[in-house]
Amino acid sequence: MEGAGHRRAAVVTGAASGIGRAIAERLADDGLDVLAVDLDPVPDGPGVGYAADLTTREGNRGAIDEALERFARLDVIVANAGVQHVAPISEFPEDHWEAMIALLLTSPFLLARYGWEALGAAGDGRFVAIASAHALAASPFKSAYVAAKHGVLGLVKTLALEGAERGILATAVCPGFVRTPLVEAQLADQAKARGIPEERVLEDVILEPHAVKRLLEPEEVAGTVSFLVGPGGRGFTGVPVTMDLGWTAH
Ligand code: NAD
Repeated sequence: MEGAGHRRAAVVTGAASGIGRAIAERLADDGLDVLAVDLDPVPDGPGVGYAADLTTREGNRGAIDEALERFARLDVIVANAGVQHVAPISEFPEDHWEAMIALLLTSPFLLARYGWEALGAAGDGRFVAIASAHALAASPFKSAYVAAKHGVLGLVKTLALEGAERGILATAVCPGFVRTPLVEAQLADQAKARGIPEERVLEDVILEPHAVKRLLEPEEVAGTVSFLVGPGGRGFTGVPVTMDLGWTAH
C-alpha cells in the first residue's frame, strides 16, 4: 500500500465537537483523508462524516470498515470520543460507569483491534488515544473517567509493544483542562458535588491543579496530534504525551 504520493487516511472519533473536531480539521489541513466519526456528525464539518455509536462493537467496526471502503487504506486512528460524569462513588450510577468504560476504554481497544491489519499494511501506522492528565493522576468524583483513562494508557503501552515489529506507533495524549463543551458541562455538576457556586468552579476547581492558570485550546491538542502522526512523531511510542500546564509536576 505504501508508495510515493499517496494520501494518508485517518479515522478520528468524537469529531463533531471540541478536541475531536479540531483534530479532524487539522489532519484534513495536513492533507490526510479524514473519516470524522460521531453520534451525530456535523454536515459541513471537516472530512467525511460517519455516524456511529462507539459504545457498541458494530459502531467501532463500522467506522473502520467505512474508512477502508472510502480511502482503501488506514494510516492513523485517533480515539478521542469521550464523556464525563461527576458524582461521588457512593452515588455513581452503575449504568454511567459501564457506558463510560465502553466509550473511553473499550472503543479504543476495538478501533485498534479492527484497524490493526490496515495500520500494519500502511507501513507507518499511528494510533493516538486522547487520554487525559487523568490517565496519570486522579481527582475526586470522577471514578469511571479516571479508571478508564488510566486503562487507555495501559492499552497504548501494549499496542506500542505489539506494533513495534509492524511499524505501528501508539501514544496517549494527556491534556489538562481544555476549553470544550465537556468542561463547560461540568461547571454545574461540580458546583453541586462540592456545594459551591458555579462561577467559582472554573477558578477554584477546574484550574486548581494547573500550575499555569488557563485552559488549553482544542487547537493546541490538535497541533500535538498532528506532530505525533507526522514525521516528528517517529520517536514516540508507548508513552503518555503530557500537555497539562504543570498539573502532574506537583
Ligand atoms: P466534547 O464533549 O466537546 O466532544 C466529545 C464528542 O464525543 C462529542 O462530539 C460527542 O458527540 C462524541 N461522543 C460522545 N459519546 C459518543 C458515542 N457513544 N459515540 C460516538 N461519539 C460520541 O469533548 P472534548 O472535551 O472535546 O473531549 C474529547 C476527548 O478529550 C475525550 O476523550 C476527553 O476525555 C478528552 N479530554 C478532554 C479534556 C477537556 O478538558 N476537555 C481534557 C483531557 C482529555
